[in-house]
Amino acid sequence: MLPQAAVNLAYLVAAVLFILDLKWMSHPRTAVRGNRAGAIGMLIAVLATLMGPEWSSYGGEGIGWDMILIGLAIGSLIGAFAALKIKMTSMPELVGLFNGFGGMASVLVAAAAIVAAMATDFSTLQPDDARITQMLVATVLSALIGSVTLFGSYVAFGKLAEFLAVKWKLHPWQKAIKYGFILLILGTAGWYALQRASADQLDVYAILVVASAVLMSVVLLAKSDTLPWLNALKLASLLGAIALGIVVVNQARAIDPNLFTTTGGAVLLQDQGPFWALVAVAGLLGVCLTFSIGGADMPVVIALLNSYSGIAAAATGFVINNNALIISGALVGASGIILTNIMCKAMNRSLLNVIFARLGPSADTPDADEVYKNVKSTSADEIAMMLETCERVVIVPGYGMAVAQAQHAVRDFANLIHEKYGCQVEYAVHPVAGRMPGHMNVLLAEANVPYDQLKEMDETNSTIEQADMALVVGANDVVNPVARTDPNSAIAGMPIIDVDRARTVVVIKRSLSPGFAGIPNPLFAMDNTLMFFNDGKDAFVEIIEAVKES
Ligand code: NDP
Repeated sequence: MLPQAAVNLAYLVAAVLFILDLKWMSHPRTAVRGNRAGAIGMLIAVLATLMGPEWSSYGGEGIGWDMILIGLAIGSLIGAFAALKIKMTSMPELVGLFNGFGGMASVLVAAAAIVAAMATDFSTLQPDDARITQMLVATVLSALIGSVTLFGSYVAFGKLAEFLAVKWKLHPWQKAIKYGFILLILGTAGWYALQRASADQLDVYAILVVASAVLMSVVLLAKSDTLPWLNALKLASLLGAIALGIVVVNQARAIDPNLFTTTGGAVLLQDQGPFWALVAVAGLLGVCLTFSIGGADMPVVIALLNSYSGIAAAATGFVINNNALIISGALVGASGIILTNIMCKAMNRSLLNVIFARLGPSADTPDADEVYKNVKSTSADEIAMMLETCERVVIVPGYGMAVAQAQHAVRDFANLIHEKYGCQVEYAVHPVAGRMPGHMNVLLAEANVPYDQLKEMDETNSTIEQADMALVVGANDVVNPVARTDPNSAIAGMPIIDVDRARTVVVIKRSLSPGFAGIPNPLFAMDNTLMFFNDGKDAFVEIIEAVKES
């Protein structure tokens, strides 16, 4: 067993590694090193916890190595399955789901802390002991933020996997997850209410649990995310969760101080009811907060949930008095907030505006047939011919490049036209392109695209008029000029990559279907635009062939 001083020293080393991890992760060149530093830091923190005096003391109370190993095995199996089996295009959903697991862990630890508190002999503490308040406030925060994160992440996952808030027919697996989850929450709430009823405790808290589960189900079943009463429900569940948090903390504070001295084993909390009502109402809050955010605003919500999972973990650190968890949770929480801020700036919206003001296709949104009257299509041979005279080509990748896994073909194409025509190629990366923050950077780094060819949106926009060709591959919303022209559109005010100002625009996508925001894109019908209707990867393979033959 390690003494507490050695454990603290190990936590300090882990904290330094976490901070270096964040620093190194901020650049693609050092990101792998950063990832390793974070993993080593986490290993040190876990080993120090397991070898420290605190855990060793739990060991005697039933949490032995067997439980740790079982947890490790289950977690590793899920992690290995996810890493090996999940496709790169499903990464955003997976990231959303993993945030939810963080939230679930916080709720479970908070629940365990409440159960433990109910069984603890507090006779050695004074009733106003700060440790009681600290533990309870942290437990409440951990449960509240954890539950918002868990349910909010499920909704984000459902929206990204396109089985929530959609009008179309679902695949069987989508139905299984959607209706299975609803049955699970209704079943759990019903079972809880029955338990309370049989113990003669069917009170307002049990009713709140059932009501929250029913309301969550109603929202999750809705086919549109523009429900008019959602904002009212958001506010009501926020106030409800705060009120229940206060009840949980006060339950302990209201206890007769004499209990501490007279019974010599006072039970701190007498009822778990308010705690579970808090978890349920916070879950409803998480569902409402995330369900209404749609259109192009999802990146903000993903960054926000990431931040919540960190804040919940930090609160959990206070519950179990673990410095490493407090530090790592705070780092995740803070970096998530910074990312949320970056995403809000990228959308040109404030956070409150994203959360409460739903933008979406409105009655004024023009009909796609009208917008696409003058679309012109092109072929690989024609593109190869145009490239012969190009000096500068800007490639704009979007979600479709990820779907097509076209990044390697795109890189081969860029190398080829540089070698053959001396053409200068750059990649303009929009901050919200794809389905997760940094999505395009990850794909391009995977294809070993040189970092100095990656340009930020502003840098490209300042000189895009001089580009001979803007080659858009699988991007749609991030190049939609409607963001500049229609104040009522779902992406109004979002800065875009102004490809329409380049001399020629070639858009590679399979059809004229809309992007994530669900609105038509007038770029496709502009005079200087040519559409190459094809899968992203096949398109580049064909263009490469045509360039080689020309
Ligand atoms: P979009 O979602 O706007 O458009 C993607 C386009 O890719 C579609 O129009 C689709 O057209 C095309 N596509 C799909 N598959 C292929 C394929 N195999 N080959 C070629 N093209 C294909 O993507 P953007 O990157 O432009 O914009 C991202 C959007 O997602 C924004 O609205 C953003 O707010 C949102 N979002 C971003 C997140 C983030 O964190 N970055 C998270 C969640 C949402 P077609 O079917 O015709 O081929």
